[in-house]
Amino acid sequence: MPNLRLANLIDGRLQAPRNDRWLDVFEPAIGRVFARCPDSSPDDVADAVAAAQRAAPGWGATPAEQRARLLHRLADLIEARLEDFAALESRDNGKPLSLARSLDIPRAVSNLRYFAAAIVPWSSESHAMEIGAINYTLRQPLGVVGCISPWNLPLYLFTWKIAPALAAGNAVVAKPSEITPCTAALLGELSIEAGFPPGVLNIVQGRGPSVGQAIVEHPAVKAVSFTGSTRTGAQIATAAAPQFKKLSLELGGKNPAVVFEDAELSDANLDTIVRSGFANQGEICLCGSRLLVQRSIYDAFRERYLARVQALRVGDPHDSASDLGALVSREHFDKVLGCIAQARAEGGRVLCGGHAVTVPDRCAEGWFVAPTVIEGLGNDAVTNQHEIFGPVVSLIPFEDEDDALAIANGSGYGLAASVWTRELSRAHRFGAQLDFGIVWINCWLLRDLRTPFGGTKQSGLGREGGTEALRFFTEPKNICIRY
Ligand code: NAD
Repeated sequence: MPNLRLANLIDGRLQAPRNDRWLDVFEPAIGRVFARCPDSSPDDVADAVAAAQRAAPGWGATPAEQRARLLHRLADLIEARLEDFAALESRDNGKPLSLARSLDIPRAVSNLRYFAAAIVPWSSESHAMEIGAINYTLRQPLGVVGCISPWNLPLYLFTWKIAPALAAGNAVVAKPSEITPCTAALLGELSIEAGFPPGVLNIVQGRGPSVGQAIVEHPAVKAVSFTGSTRTGAQIATAAAPQFKKLSLELGGKNPAVVFEDAELSDANLDTIVRSGFANQGEICLCGSRLLVQRSIYDAFRERYLARVQALRVGDPHDSASDLGALVSREHFDKVLGCIAQARAEGGRVLCGGHAVTVPDRCAEGWFVAPTVIEGLGNDAVTNQHEIFGPVVSLIPFEDEDDALAIANGSGYGLAASVWTRELSRAHRFGAQLDFGIVWINCWLLRDLRTPFGGTKQSGLGREGGTEALRFFTEPKNICIRY
């Protein structure tokens, strides 16, 4: 099959990059190139921003109901081609097709529908004054905004940004990850069919230091919503600071899952705890990679947990029996194996996994790693402090609630935590003291799109989701009228 050739979407037209340079896009499950994506330059970004500047006033003045209709139409078009999108996402990222079909693409559709629905009733504040005046707050679009997304949940996170940006009336210049550019490119094609005016949504494909940085530095881009690594987030914050740009940064995590001795450890809950470590090959920023277990139940828990992890099947993403697919790239595969070697070197015992997996036949050259569980490392070990972002979980025993809290909070990151307990008062008390942006009690990855999403410390800045995202993508203006 000939390689797919992707295009940029600029000013309502699919275009090759000006420099005619292209990047290889790999299919991780087979370790081979299957697509080429524009290796765009700042010139393409300049074209996209110029188109967005032309489109922004008209789009911002378009009634919210009409913007919402277009977002709903785009959602419908994606949903109608759910199978195509899921196949492309799985091929591009290495994740099981079943996961792309049940999680990634349906959630991308929900993101578009949610913000289409949320923008219409979004009301303005007003405050009457005793003196005889009324204040009301306009929330106006910013104009042109940038959206930069990562490779782990490609369309899911791409739409999580562009949906509120567009709903709020901004023109968007977006850049998906160059490692997984395909589904965003297909969305771009469908946005033309949906009828978005030219320049309202621009998608510039390419690398971070060229395209991403040009978006961040362009003076006409008023805000940047970024999801990716903490290191890149810091570079973006540095580049954006001289222009005082609004930033939303969703960064890395080293999330704890805390299992108390009174937890309801039904099979279903154990499955969720396992999933919280290994879903999407552990390549979800919300995965719990530090599994804290109360010492009184540690041995019994470990036995049941390991049995379940060992039963997970690593295999061809097309195979519906595969629980884990391939890691996203050769580079990431090497990094994860390097982290496991480091865990061993610093004294960790590998209880299961700890190695690459060869999946036979068409996937023999793919980048697969066995689900890995490590124990015996203190919370300050490198393995327990650095984000691995792969199928690696470290077990850490704790004595009591205070000990659990100190370990859980003893991290430079603060994205998400999950807590397993039947004691209601402990759930409230402990949840309130966790220094994380998201806390799940007796569940994991339950996402209500109305709730604030984001992290503390090195996990980021600001919040996405619900009205938080709409606030981010608008500028409040107070108008005071004396009567
Ligand atoms: P990354 O930081 O390497 O890349 C993310 C995006 O930024 C890509 O599109 C990349 O091309 C672009 N980029 C790179 N350098 C840039 C620069 N100098 N200026 C502007 N853009 C630049 O991250 P990744 O490896 O794609 O994704 C994995 C990371 O993302 C992990 O750390 C993970 O925890 C994090 N993540 C966080 C969340 C969250 O919501 N907090 C969600 C998913 C992933």
